[in-house]
Amino acid sequence: MAKWVYMFSEGDMTMRNLLGGKGANLAEMTSIGLPVPQGFTITTEACTQYYEDGRKINDEIMAQVMEGVKKMEEINGKKFGDLQNPLLVSVRSGARASMPGMMDTILNLGLNDEVVAAMIAGNPDPKFERFVYDSYRRFIQMFSDVVMEVGKKYFEQLIDQMKAEKNVKFDVELTAADLKKLAEQFKAEYKKQLGKDFPSDPVQQLKLAIEAVFRSWDNPRANVYRRDNDIPYSWGTAVNVMPMVFGNLNDESGTGVAFTRDPATGEKKLMGEFLINAQGEDVVAGVRTPMPIAQMEKEFPDAYADFIKVCDILENHYHDMQDMEFTVENKKLFMLQCRNGKRTAQAALKIACDLVDEGHKTEAEAVAMIDPRNLDTLLHPQFDAKALKAATPLGKGLGASPGAACGKVVFTAEDAEEWGARGEKVVLVRLETSPEDITGMKAAQGILTVRGGMTSHAAVVARGMGTCCVSGCGDINMDEENKKFTLAGKEFHEGDYISIDGSTGNIYEGEIPTVDASIAGEFGRIMAWADKYRRLKVRTNADTPRDAKKARELGAEGIGLCRTEHMFFEEDRIAAFREMICADTVEERVAALDKILPYQQGDFEQLYEALEGCPVVIRFLDPPLHEFVPTDEEDIKKLADAQGKSVESIKALIASLHEFNPMMGHRGCRLAVTYPEIAVMQTKAVIRAAINVQKAHPEWKIDPEIMIPLVGEVKELKYVKKFVVETADAEIAAAGIDMKYQVGTMIEIPRAALTADEIAKEADFFCFGTNDLTQMTYGFSRDDAGKFLSAYYDAKILENDPFAKLDQVGVGKLMKMAMELGKPVNPALTVGICGEHGGDPSSVEFCHKIGLDYVSCSPFRVPVARLAAAQAAIANAGK
Ligand code: PEP
Ligand code: MG
Repeated sequence: MAKWVYMFSEGDMTMRNLLGGKGANLAEMTSIGLPVPQGFTITTEACTQYYEDGRKINDEIMAQVMEGVKKMEEINGKKFGDLQNPLLVSVRSGARASMPGMMDTILNLGLNDEVVAAMIAGNPDPKFERFVYDSYRRFIQMFSDVVMEVGKKYFEQLIDQMKAEKNVKFDVELTAADLKKLAEQFKAEYKKQLGKDFPSDPVQQLKLAIEAVFRSWDNPRANVYRRDNDIPYSWGTAVNVMPMVFGNLNDESGTGVAFTRDPATGEKKLMGEFLINAQGEDVVAGVRTPMPIAQMEKEFPDAYADFIKVCDILENHYHDMQDMEFTVENKKLFMLQCRNGKRTAQAALKIACDLVDEGHKTEAEAVAMIDPRNLDTLLHPQFDAKALKAATPLGKGLGASPGAACGKVVFTAEDAEEWGARGEKVVLVRLETSPEDITGMKAAQGILTVRGGMTSHAAVVARGMGTCCVSGCGDINMDEENKKFTLAGKEFHEGDYISIDGSTGNIYEGEIPTVDASIAGEFGRIMAWADKYRRLKVRTNADTPRDAKKARELGAEGIGLCRTEHMFFEEDRIAAFREMICADTVEERVAALDKILPYQQGDFEQLYEALEGCPVVIRFLDPPLHEFVPTDEEDIKKLADAQGKSVESIKALIASLHEFNPMMGHRGCRLAVTYPEIAVMQTKAVIRAAINVQKAHPEWKIDPEIMIPLVGEVKELKYVKKFVVETADAEIAAAGIDMKYQVGTMIEIPRAALTADEIAKEADFFCFGTNDLTQMTYGFSRDDAGKFLSAYYDAKILENDPFAKLDQVGVGKLMKMAMELGKPVNPALTVGICGEHGGDPSSVEFCHKIGLDYVSCSPFRVPVARLAAAQAAIANAGK
């Protein structure tokens, strides 16, 4: 019989896959003697089983849960539903990878009318009565919302109504009698909404709550989070059932969240927040703004001293920054959770370096602990220092997630999404955010909230996404309904510009220009370590000297893809290019190409200069020609005049270029097969540029690499290559220079992968064009797949966009096959990838595993690829 339930005393931190992160760490804290309320974990496998059984908890699992309850009752000397000593529990999710705020939690479970009455009868303190009713109404509200999906709003309305009736502002001002009445009203509301009574049996409550947590694994926000963070759906979540300790018991109690190091900067100092007389959700929900953790020392000196000891123990045990949740009940400390804390990219780098310096980690371990996807945020713009100096902040909140953001104010997540979709830069300004806001938060440049601390939803989620966030700016006077707010006497309306600094927390009126970041300090240190471990080279996809220079600064070791067609669109070139398209004869076409040649040569020279002798792969013309012809009347007329032809004849020509399926049409090497003179011109441009730069810089070694796109049959390559070789050899001979060059091909058509042994005889190198290879392997249009992918996610057919994350099963199999077929035929063959996947960490790991020589990606992803390549090498060392 499978074991579905583990007491905290039965597990340890190595069991994360089975017990989830929270469960494994609760077990580990138990095993090292920390004060953890003793409960049990229902495994992630039980979650998978729940889905396999058609969203039902089967009898075997439930029987083991009840055994767990029994043991928990014995350990704690309390019983579910008991009128003398009732046991109340929390039921919380906990997946293998932490997904803060994405799944469900239920607190105070086990309460019902009888238990409430008995608890009050057992303790005459009127404050205790208030506490019991406060817990009861919280439980009814949370259970109704989370477990039974009755909207929160009904309960909030009732609370507002009660506060209005009693003429008070805050929940804490409501009396025991008010809360008792509220609990009654809540139950009545429950019945009204669901047509049945609120469940009073604690066992039934527990079963429903466990089901709700399993169910929440599949809620939309968890699905989005998983996709963004590359967490497989198949992992499932564990459920942790733990006896409640009460931070809201009295003024000798409280609850807090803390990090052993600053999660925003990485500085080694305890960072956290604490609320007296409150339950955990009050801190995280950002409803009340908590006090800094240091103040806890004054309020609860003993518990604080214990907590500091725990922090040290945990850091030394896990060798990483810890994020902890704890509660103080009657001055006594209880640990409710610990985990390696989420951190900003900046903090991640500092912490990793500090941990090496402190002897906690090796360099390789430090490299392995950085999430490559986060590096992106460091490369994003910061405010221009000069402009910033000249600006005066209007107000200040907490610098919750660094980076600079500037945009138009919007007040709802929906607006952020809508405005973002039409290309507007927006800053989402909210009282506080909640998990429903996630897509709007993603669309925003920055997030500004009135309430909430460093661990509020807005702060945690923004940090995870790498979006700039300022939280808890209580000086803002918010009027969400009328979409306006005031700060320092200035009124802001929807659409007004605002700038926020997620590092300092400063808020500015208007637009402040931003500048790019650079690799220095800890970033440079980690990158240097990464470079020691990686085997894969990292090149960049760049078509302009500017991009190439940026990529070089970010560590690119060459250009893996220069899409030459991008050079044709500029004003002065497009005319000549259109002339080439309109040519009726080879002579006319050659004449037009001769006009383009100097432009191309000049561009290539600049690229070779920018790359300082590093390899440059230049890909020949790829897109279908219709992309270059004019569409509006005026331009058509201009073209006709320039060509000395009639408007009608130009229109007829444009019509003749129309294709039903242009991505599978007259493009790639098919253009060079039809018009070899294009390949001849491009070869001249490449070789002449290389010769000139080589002459100017004898210290560099320029070996041009020419790449023929969209080859599916070796004879295509052979045919085009003949023109390339003839032209290149003639140019080199004429220059009297000793220059080697390579002619390679993209592998981006399935047939090319299938016949790679044939193609490898003719190609000096392969480069996987996984954009087209994915398109043609799946048969999904790379331009239109977005239209149906979300249906595929909902139907669980796909978990990720195969154009962003390599489909290792299908497309990957073709790549592997191409490697295995190509390499033995041509052992000198170098192989790279230049599709979008070249900058995606898991795809980079795959490329490492199948033995590619390099990955090539957009300039800003170069550091991501360097780190991912190092992590792949470290993870696969010795395999
Ligand atoms: C590819 O297909 O992966 C590729 C890099 O070429 P392009 O995106 O230009 O078609
Ligand atoms: Mg392609």
